[in-house]
Amino acid sequence: MVRFESTVSATRTALLDALALVSPVRCSGCGVADRAVCDDCAAALRPCPRQIDMSGLAVTSALTYAGVVRQVIASFKDAGRTDAGTVLAAALRTSVVHALAASHSEPGSVRLASIPSTPAARRARGYAPVAVLLRRAGLRAEPVLCAVRATRDQAELGARARRENRDRWLAARPGARAGRFLLVDDILTTGSTLLEARRALLEAGAQVIGAAVLARTPLRLEGRASDGFADDE
Ligand SMILES: [Zn+2]
Repeated sequence: MVRFESTVSATRTALLDALALVSPVRCSGCGVADRAVCDDCAAALRPCPRQIDMSGLAVTSALTYAGVVRQVIASFKDAGRTDAGTVLAAALRTSVVHALAASHSEPGSVRLASIPSTPAARRARGYAPVAVLLRRAGLRAEPVLCAVRATRDQAELGARARRENRDRWLAARPGARAGRFLLVDDILTTGSTLLEARRALLEAGAQVIGAAVLARTPLRLEGRASDGFADDE
């Protein structure tokens, strides 16, 4: 069931900010000497929830994956800037809250399901970005999905190749049966990963009420072969 634990993350934010006083950092968005995310960049990261329909799946996003947003997410995911996670966690939480509200589900009836990282991505980073963000947001996804075959890095691929790469890539564990799930992921590009996750859960006898993502690529980028960042969409 979805639970919120805001006090813990508020305390953590205060501690991280205090740490920045003795161990100066540069803003992960613009590089100015400041906190992990300076005030100007934090303003650009203020969530603005939007919902779109993707082959019948209602997908809520909090941010547009461009400019400062893109820079901060890339720093968080691929440059080890986990200190930028607090601001991103707040945006992901907003996306989850809006998606739940829009689904008109019974309170407490929905479970969160995140997309598993590929083994290569986990090895390269040493952490799973979405799991870190959910934890900081006081939320927890259940590991009901698992990869059943190897896939290529999505960043190398165009829209059609992404779909093929993700085709029947996932399976749902038996514990998912009869559950009602909200899918959670970081970046929405073509939607191929979310649609594959929905297929796996539906085949296992679960329901999927929608999806919540941190950021969505602007329309002009959708389907482009590679932008070098949206690596495991
Ligand atoms: Zn900044």
